[in-house]
Amino acid sequence: MAPRFERESLGRFHATMASARIHAVYGSLVEVIEVTGGLAVMGLGTWKLAQGQLTLGGLLVFLALIGKLYSPIRGLSRLGNTFYAASASAERIIELLDQRPQVVEAAGARSIGRARGEVEFDGVSFSYPGTARRALSEVSFRVAPGESLALVGASGAGKSTVAKLLLRFYDPDTGALRLDGTDLRDLRLSDVRENVAVVLQETLVFHGTVRDNIAYGRPGASEPDIVAAARAADAHDFIELLPDGYDTMVGQRGRTLSGGQRQRLAIARAMIRNAPVLLLDEPTTGLDARSGLRIMEPLRRLMAGRTTVVISHDLLTVRDATRIVVLDRGRVVESGTHDELLARDGTYARLYRLSPVPGHLAESGSLPRGTVLS
Ligand code: ATP
Repeated sequence: MAPRFERESLGRFHATMASARIHAVYGSLVEVIEVTGGLAVMGLGTWKLAQGQLTLGGLLVFLALIGKLYSPIRGLSRLGNTFYAASASAERIIELLDQRPQVVEAAGARSIGRARGEVEFDGVSFSYPGTARRALSEVSFRVAPGESLALVGASGAGKSTVAKLLLRFYDPDTGALRLDGTDLRDLRLSDVRENVAVVLQETLVFHGTVRDNIAYGRPGASEPDIVAAARAADAHDFIELLPDGYDTMVGQRGRTLSGGQRQRLAIARAMIRNAPVLLLDEPTTGLDARSGLRIMEPLRRLMAGRTTVVISHDLLTVRDATRIVVLDRGRVVESGTHDELLARDGTYARLYRLSPVPGHLAESGSLPRGTVLS
């Protein structure tokens, strides 16, 4: 990491030096031309004046006009810098536009409109392109509309891969993923993504107003809808306290907001999206215990009535799930309710006992349900 940082910094240093050199040379060159031009005009003008071919007024006007010409020429040197910076940015944009998506929409892809929200993984196996190792092997589960399914497992078990397949960023190698009984590959891509709302560990906040950032969930959303979503996400109060309320500009990546506030913004965005399927990928990880606890209530409100797939390291937040699926190295090793899995005394029970806060504390009421451990 350090050598790479040094290499990139040196590259930037050399580029800045080259630009400064060009700037300095160009600036001096323009000055030399300016003085030479002035002297030449004066010399030639005086000679023509002596010959009687030019009047004194004509010479003075010519000198005044030529003086005005230099400032735009100097501007050209600045334009050069802007041009190079813009062409570098254009290259990045072209690189992005040239990226080919991993999945393509089938020719006769169907539209299902708003789904009921039944999600099914049927014997799904998947390896990332260019890797031999299977990230998922024969994974099967079904979530009925409105139910919640929690995916737990150690780091690298394949939980986020399930999320990526559900959003159809990749297609499975074998097996099928179905939404309301239809294979995702037979559906229009926009339909799949419109039916799924996501709240991720790291919320993407765009440079714009708070209002824009919430409305991003559903472009064209009305003001009362935006405020209602913010209220349901417990975000309205902190937004009102911002300098310009809903019109406050949030910096790129939401630097001006705290982690918890960013997550509540993400919840408001998912609320307004009103999709039947909800995907929560570690939404409380990275927050301190207090902020994590504060987003539990809005998260529950968001989950109500939607099919939810929640990925979490925090075993106390998954207890309420209708069903828990335990993944280990890409395979489903256990599945059932919290109580069933504890009674089974297998991987889940072991992970639960290893939780930083012992389960019995939470059960005895010393900690509220849903206390965030991470
Ligand atoms: P974590 O809890 O740390 O997020 P996870 O259970 O979500 O882990 P995944 O991110 O689904 O695990 O990764 C499953 C496996 O796939 C891992 O072995 C990982 O190294 C591999 N993997 C993940 N993303 C890619 C990728 N883009 N390209 C290649 N391999 C990947």
